[in-house]
Amino acid sequence: MNAASDHSRHEPYRGRFAPSPTGPLHFGSLVAAVGSYLEARQRGGQWLVRIEDIDTPRVIPGAADDILRTLELLGMQWDETVIVQSQRGDAYRLALERLRERGVLYPCACTRREIADSALHGIEGFVYPGVCRDGLPAGRAPRATRVRTTGIQVSFKDAIQGTITQNLEHDIGDFVVWRADGLIAYQLAVIVDDAGQGITDIVRGADLLDSTPRQIYLQQLLGLPAPRYAHLPVAVNERGEKLSKQTLARAIDTQHPAFEIVRALRFLEQTVAEELASAGLREVWRWAVAHWDRSRISARRTIRVAA
Ligand code: GLU
Repeated sequence: MNAASDHSRHEPYRGRFAPSPTGPLHFGSLVAAVGSYLEARQRGGQWLVRIEDIDTPRVIPGAADDILRTLELLGMQWDETVIVQSQRGDAYRLALERLRERGVLYPCACTRREIADSALHGIEGFVYPGVCRDGLPAGRAPRATRVRTTGIQVSFKDAIQGTITQNLEHDIGDFVVWRADGLIAYQLAVIVDDAGQGITDIVRGADLLDSTPRQIYLQQLLGLPAPRYAHLPVAVNERGEKLSKQTLARAIDTQHPAFEIVRALRFLEQTVAEELASAGLREVWRWAVAHWDRSRISARRTIRVAA
């Protein structure tokens, strides 16, 4: 399958930032916020914010408000109302129903341990060995719901990382859309929301590059429009780990917002003059919107930074 971009050039640009409220905003997510914001603002487009709290066990109470407050203090104004995934269960269930009608789903009884014992490694964890693909083994109860990937190859052109091609069946395997704990999988929620919000352009971290073919496949199954993608390099520490709450990345310093934005601009390989680092926040944004140049960003999945 080839992802044809359904969004014409003249359609109004709608971008988004979709943080997971698993902790305060840190440098890694700030980079995605700044990249998506500048791309939208420079094109005279809209920039929406969506709180991705679908993975409830990982949600930290208060983190969503904290992230939104930090964005405000950093001078990043979003358009429209913030959408919160935990309030969108009906839309996700409807999408699941549509997939079921298309006959691409099947219940799976396998536990993580069973899969780990028999599966091969793909590019992202184990490739599901297909035990339940033709029906549940006798006496086993369904746990999760998977989508079939038999014979599916997805190719798309990423504006930063180039052409990405994945053989879903071999690289990823049949993947879960409805989890054993009853939650909708991120891969499904994200495409339902992007379509629901009319997002035309997705700018986010390259840690999601390998998820994109799954998302494109689901968009195609559901007949949803294909957004354009640009995956930014991800900030990693000296050990190559993504900066996150788990790797103890420090929270953004809202006392020095201009400094933080300049730091993100430099990470995104923009040529920021020395003087700008000591300018006020308004001036930094004025400069950034006028000079933002996505073509400066190199096609790297990660860039090392001091944590
Ligand atoms: N919620 C995801 C994250 O914080 C981002 C998802 C996306 O941008 O598609 O990593």
